Parts: sequence; C-alpha cells; structure tokens
Amino acid sequence: MKTRLTLTVGAAAVLLFSRCAVNPVTGKKEVILVSEGQEVAMGAQSDPAVTAQFGLYSDPKMQKFIDEKGQKMAAISHRSSLKYQFKVVDSPVINAFAVPGGYVYFTRGIMAHFNNEAQFAGVLGHEIGHVTARHSARQQTKAILGQVGLMGAMILSPQVAQFGDQAMQGMQLLFLKFGRDDERQSDELGVQYSSKIGYDASQMADFFQTLSREQAKSGKEAIPDFLSTHPNPEDRYNTVKQLAEQWKQANGNPKLAVNRDQYLRLIDGMVYGEDPKQGFVENSVFYHPELKIRFPVPTGWKHQNTPQQFQMADPAGKALLILMTAPGASLDEAAQAIAKQLSLQAAEAPRRTTINGFPALAFVADQVQQDQQTGQQVAGVRVLGHIIQDGKTLYALLGVTAPADFPTYAPQFSGVAEAFQRLSEPNKLNRQPERVRIVKLKLRSNLSKALTTNGVPEKRLEEMAILNGMQLNEQVNAGSLIKVVGK
Ligand SMILES: [Zn+2]
Repeated sequence: MKTRLTLTVGAAAVLLFSRCAVNPVTGKKEVILVSEGQEVAMGAQSDPAVTAQFGLYSDPKMQKFIDEKGQKMAAISHRSSLKYQFKVVDSPVINAFAVPGGYVYFTRGIMAHFNNEAQFAGVLGHEIGHVTARHSARQQTKAILGQVGLMGAMILSPQVAQFGDQAMQGMQLLFLKFGRDDERQSDELGVQYSSKIGYDASQMADFFQTLSREQAKSGKEAIPDFLSTHPNPEDRYNTVKQLAEQWKQANGNPKLAVNRDQYLRLIDGMVYGEDPKQGFVENSVFYHPELKIRFPVPTGWKHQNTPQQFQMADPAGKALLILMTAPGASLDEAAQAIAKQLSLQAAEAPRRTTINGFPALAFVADQVQQDQQTGQQVAGVRVLGHIIQDGKTLYALLGVTAPADFPTYAPQFSGVAEAFQRLSEPNKLNRQPERVRIVKLKLRSNLSKALTTNGVPEKRLEEMAILNGMQLNEQVNAGSLIKVVGK
C-alpha cells in the first residue's frame, strides 16, 4: 500500500459520436470513436492517477535515460507530432504500458530485468507502437476494460469477489488487454522503431524469453502486457527474430547497438522486488513502515499488497479483509464516502470506539448486488467495517463475507481491527529493500558458479539466472558484468 490516497483512474470517456479517421500506421481509413484531442485528454487525465497510484521511481538518471530514448524514438515514429511522456513507476511488477495520447510507462521491475539497451528499446518501440497505431484508442472504443481483482482467483464466492473488484476499480486502465493482431502489429513497430534509432531489434525476442521464464516461475503475479494475449511465445520469438533480420537486410546491414555494459551500469543499485517501505508481512503481521501501522493477518490467510490496498483472503475463499485509505476529513465523512463508493447500506447504527489510542468508527453494512443473470436485486455481502483515524489519515478496514457466513467470520474481522496499532519497532521501520548489484567477474566460469561465488544462495540461483537472461550452465567470461541482488 502506498501512503498516498489513490484516485480512480478516469478512463470512462463518454463516446458520443463516431468518425472516420486515417490510421497513422496503416494509412487506412477506420471508424474511430475517439478523436486525437480526446486521446490526449484521456492521457492527461489518467497520468496523475497512474503516478499517484504507483509513485515515480526516484532515480533522475534513469528517468532521463528513458525520456531521451523515448523522445528520439517518438520523433521517427508515425505520430511524431504527439507530445510523449516516458516515466519509470515504482512497482516491482514486470510491466510496461501505454495510455492514449502518448503516455508510456515502465515499471522498475521491467527495468531491472532488461539486460541491455536494445531490449529496452524493443519494448519501448512496442509500447510507442500501441500509441501510434491507436490501439488504446480503439480499445477504449470497444470498452473492454477488464477488471483484474488480484485476489479474484482465490475467492470462491462470486459476491465477495465482486466486492473485491469494486474496491479495486482503479486498476482497470493499467491492464488494458490488446487483441492478438494489435500485439503482432506492435511487435513489428517495435522492430522498426528500435532499429531506426540504431538498436539490434532481435534482442527484443530474447527478452520475451525472460518474460516466459518469469511467468512460469511466478504464475499470475506478473501480468506483462507482452504475454497477456500471446498463447504462443515461441512463434512470437521467431517472428521478431525474422523481422529484425529482414529490416537489417533491407537497410544495408547497418551496425546495430546492444549496449549491455552501459545498461547494466545504469541499473546498478536499483531497488529489486518488493520495497518494504510500502508494506510487508512477516510472521503473520502486516507492517507498513511509511504509514507506521501494523496489524495481524489471520493465520493461514493469503494476502496481497498493492499500491491501493492490502487484501487478505481466507483459505476457503469465503471472506476478504481489505485495508485502504479513505477520503474525508473525519470519521463520519470517511464512512459516508466509503458507503457511497461501495453502495453500502447500514445494517446497524455506527458505533464510536477507540482502537489502541486511535479514534475509530465501527459499522455493519450490507451491499445489495444485482444478479448477473436475472438482473434482480439480491442480498450481496455483509461488511464489518472499521474507519480508523491516525491524524489526517483515515483508514477503512473492511471485512466482507456472505450474510450467511457473517457470524462465523465477524470475530476474525474484529480481532484484526482491534489489534491495529502504531508500528514502532526500529528493525521494521528501517527495513531496507534489496538492490540490483552489478559485479565484474574475475574468472571465466559458468553462471551458476559465478553467482555462488558472489554470495547468491542455492535457492535463488534460478531467479538470478532469469534476471541475467541466461542459463545457469552458460559460460561467462572473465571481465564480464553480471547482476546479483543484495541489501
Ligand atoms: Zn502490447
């Protein structure tokens, strides 16, 4: 969870009339419901929400690097007149995404996983391609803004899952899914654009393999744009390799750059994985050093920390506990705002209380939902909520379950709320993240041995091999650079 209050990304553009426009990439006429002006407005409107949600990764030299390369590529793209913005956001997830109007974002997670400038440039070209070919604009037109409730897969009760999705609605825009044809076209544009600014585009194909390995390892945790709609990564790998070779031959076989060492020097010291300052769980307790709060996670419950909120789900998939910040200047205002946002109706009068010194308001409320098939109103979920005030910050801790299960789960919901307290342990407050460290090898050996020599434990060898884009048995020369992670 981030310290900032998260805004809902305002992607719901009102589409009033359709028009015909020439696609900048294909040159063909097509029906587009969003004008360029509307695209730019969408991007400008979403950008503060995206940056508020993740925060910008604070490293001026890296922000400068991606802006320089981005502007250079934008200038040779099919839509050079747009005003582009390129940003690295503070998220460990491996992803890059574009928002209409020329806004392109990279996570620090993906930046840590590139192994040279050419890989970065290929992905940059792919994302710029979504903008120039107006994929996002068309995507908006189709209005397929699939919601990704991150805990959704483990929640069995559809009503509870629906509540979780509603509470997560700000995530929508970031997980825009493009069709397979759009992805293919963006790959082509990625090859073209990155080659044009002097990079070896075949490196992009190698990065697909990093993504495949990462996804195989972490399951759905990593949801990169690149893999979302490609059931066959092998195919895509081969296609990009071929396109890169064709481009070279058609353009007089120029010498193209990879720039491995320069890139690795750029990311030396970069934060790797979860940053504990944004919250972490240890021995069934959630700690948030920036917010200076802590509370227990019920035994055996799964949990997920996102920039917007911290969610916990019981193993049976019947109950959810959500902590998020709430808008408003007082307990009452916050309670009303949350009730409005989630369509809650009070089942009992709210009760003022104090939780370990914090003023609080406890309430029980129901959310009436519509049956997806019949459209009729049905009893949805019952919520045991606590609004907790810490100075100017207001939190909502919401326990959610079906009305029939409420008596079973209510004591657990209360137990968590009552144990909410100030975090004061220095060893939790000062917990440091891991960082990427670039080391120069003294001897030639295989990667596995090189990693072990540099202090990587056995159980993290495969993870480090993926991070380095290599196999563990691959030979690495004396004098070459590799990535390890450490504090
Ligand atoms: Zn894409």
